[in-house]
Amino acid sequence: MLSNKAIIFCGPSGAGKTTIAKYLLENNPRLRFSISACTRPVRKNESAGRDYYFLSKQEFKEKIANNEFIEWEEVYEGSYYGTLKSEIESIWAENKIAIFDVDVKGGLRLKNYFQHHALAIYVKVPHLNLLTKRLLKRNTDTEQSIKQRIAKAKYEASFENQFDATLLNDKMKVTLAKAQQLVDVFLQT
Ligand code: 5GP
Repeated sequence: MLSNKAIIFCGPSGAGKTTIAKYLLENNPRLRFSISACTRPVRKNESAGRDYYFLSKQEFKEKIANNEFIEWEEVYEGSYYGTLKSEIESIWAENKIAIFDVDVKGGLRLKNYFQHHALAIYVKVPHLNLLTKRLLKRNTDTEQSIKQRIAKAKYEASFENQFDATLLNDKMKVTLAKAQQLVDVFLQT
C-alpha cells in the first residue's frame, strides 16, 4: 500500500519548497498536498482551504486542546501552524500520498510519526543572502517578517543532517529533476 507514505519538505522560507512541492504535485497524480492550519493573516494570492486553513488563535487553541493535530508549532512569534489529523485521514481516504511543507521541528516530528514510510527532504540555498533576495522579490513579507525568516533559517540549518536527503536549490530546473528522482526511488521501495 502506497498511501501511508509521506514526503516531507523542510527548509527556510524562500528556499523553493513550495515550487518543488507544486511541481511534484502536478507531475505525480498520486500525491496530495497536506494543507496545514495556521493563524497568520492570509496573503494576497492565497486562498483559505487551498493554501492553509486560516484559523483564529482561539480556534487553533481549541484544536490543540481537542488533540486534533499530529504536530503543531508556534513557527514565528504569535503565529501557529499545524498538521491536522483530519487532513491526513482525508488524504489516506483517497489512497494518496501526503506531501508536506512544514518547518524543521514539525518535519522531524512527522518523520518520527511516519517512521520508515517517510521521506524527509531538507531544501537549502547556496547562500543566505540569496534567501533575503528571494524573499524581497516575492514581495509578500514585511521587513520584520523577512528578518524573522532569516534568523529561523540559520537556526534550522543545524538540523539538516537529521533528514533523509538534502536538495541544494541553486538552479530550479536541476532541483526539480533531482526532487522527482528522489520521489521516484522512494515510491518504488
Ligand atoms: P509561511 O508563513 O511562509 O507560509 O510559512 C512559514 C513556515 O511555516 C514555513 O517554514 C512552513 O514550512 C511552516 N509551516 C507551514 N505549515 C506548517 C505546519 O503544519 N506545521 C509546521 N510545524 N510548520 C508549518
